[in-house]
Amino acid sequence: MSRRAFTTRQLHDRPRRDDGAIAAARATPIYLTAGFEFGEYDDAAAHFGRGEGYAYTRIGNPTIDAVEHTLAALEGGSQALLLASGQAATTVALLSLLEAGQHIVASTHIYEGTRGLLRENLPRLGVTTDFVSEIDDLSAWEAAILPTTRALFAESISNASNRLVDIPALAALAHRHGIVLVIDNTFATPYLVRPLELGADVVVHSASKFLAGHGSVLGGAIVDSGRIDAATVAHRYPHLVAAGRGGAPSLFERVGQDARIAYARESVAPRFGPTPSPLNAFLIGQGIETLSLRVERQSANAQALAQWLESRPEIASVDYVGLASHRDHELAVRDLTDGFGAVFSFTLRGDVETARRFVEALEVFTHMTHLGDVRSLVLHPASTSHAALTDAERTAVGVHPGTLRVSIGIEDVHDLIDDLSQALSVASDVPVAVLA
Ligand SMILES: *Cc1c(COP(=O)(O)O)cnc(C)c1O
Repeated sequence: MSRRAFTTRQLHDRPRRDDGAIAAARATPIYLTAGFEFGEYDDAAAHFGRGEGYAYTRIGNPTIDAVEHTLAALEGGSQALLLASGQAATTVALLSLLEAGQHIVASTHIYEGTRGLLRENLPRLGVTTDFVSEIDDLSAWEAAILPTTRALFAESISNASNRLVDIPALAALAHRHGIVLVIDNTFATPYLVRPLELGADVVVHSASKFLAGHGSVLGGAIVDSGRIDAATVAHRYPHLVAAGRGGAPSLFERVGQDARIAYARESVAPRFGPTPSPLNAFLIGQGIETLSLRVERQSANAQALAQWLESRPEIASVDYVGLASHRDHELAVRDLTDGFGAVFSFTLRGDVETARRFVEALEVFTHMTHLGDVRSLVLHPASTSHAALTDAERTAVGVHPGTLRVSIGIEDVHDLIDDLSQALSVASDVPVAVLA
C-alpha cells in the first residue's frame, strides 16, 4: 500500500475486515463501548498478561486502532496513538520522554496552549523548558541544550507568523546529542510535510484541526518514527530499557524500535487517561479520508488571499510562508512541495479598533478560535489567544494590535476576496485618497 499516492492511501490504508463481525462494514465500524466481552475464560488472563485482544476502551478499541493505523501510514511513522485532544497528545508525548530534573528546548513560535504547558504545568513536575526565538539559528538551539535535555520541540509551521524550522538540521542536532526531536505538525498536516521522513522522531497533532477538518470534534495524535538509537537509549531514556516488574523483559527487549510509542501507549496514556471517544475517532477517520483534497484547496485559496492582501494599501504586512517576502520562504519551497498551508496572519494599518471594525464587518469568515476547518475563520490574537503575553512577547511572535489570524477554508476564493475587500473598506483608517 505504501507506494500508492497520499490521496489513495488516505482512503485505503486502513484495516478492512474485522474478524468475527456479523458483516464486513465498508466504513470503519464505531465500537462505541466501554469494554469488550472475553470469549474464552483464558482470554482475560491473556489480555492482562500479554496484552492480547480488546478488553477496555482506555487500553484499546478497534475504531481507534483503525484511525491510528491510517495516521501512522500517512505520516510515514511506525505507529500512532490517538488521544482526546492535541493538548493531550503533546502532554503524553513529553511525559513519555521526560522525568523530573530533565529539560526541553522549545521554539518560541508555538501554540499558546503548549507554551502554557511548558511554562506552568511541566515545571511543577520538575520538567523545565528554555525557549529559542531565533529558530533558524542552529547554534542558538545547540547553546540551549543542557546535559539534562531530552527533547527539542518545534512546530512545522508556526502560529502566528508562519515560521518554519529546518527539520533535517534540527533532527541531526538532536541526534548528535542522543536526544529526540518532537514536531507539532498540526498546521502542515502529513499532506504538506512529513517530519518523520525528514528525520524527526516524534510527531504530535491536534486532530481537532485539519485532520478532522469538519470542526465537530476534538482529538490529538502522537506518531512515532519507530527509530530508536540503540547506542544512546540506555543512557538517555533508561525507562525504555529498564526490566519490567519481576524481571520481565524491558520494553526495548519486547518491542525494539517501537519502545517509545509503546511506553506512551501502555504506561502514560492509560494512566493519565485522555482516551478519545470511539465516536470522535470515527469522525476523525472520516475527516482524514478527504485530507489532501481539503488541504490542497485551502492552501491554494490561502496563497491567493495572501497575495491579494499583500497588494492592498490597508495592510501593513502579511506573514504567509507561501509569499516570497516571508523570511522562511526558501525553506518552505524546499520542504513544502504541495502547498504552504491555510493558516496565516496579516496586520492591518491601524489599531485594535481597526481590527474590531474589520472582524465585525466580515460576513463569510466566522469569528472564532479554531483552525483547519472547511470554513474560513478569523481571530484577533492580541485580545484572545495571545492576551496573556507581554507586549514584548507578543511582538516577538509577530502579534501586533492590528494583527488578524485567518484559517482559510474551501469556499470559492472570489467570495473570500469579496468578503475581505468589503470589510477592509468598512474598517480602514487609510485615507480614501491613498486607496484610490
Ligand atoms: C489547537 C492546537 C493544539 C492543541 O490542540 P487541541 O486539540 O485544541 O487540544 C496544539 N498545537 C497546535 C499547533 C494547535 O493549533
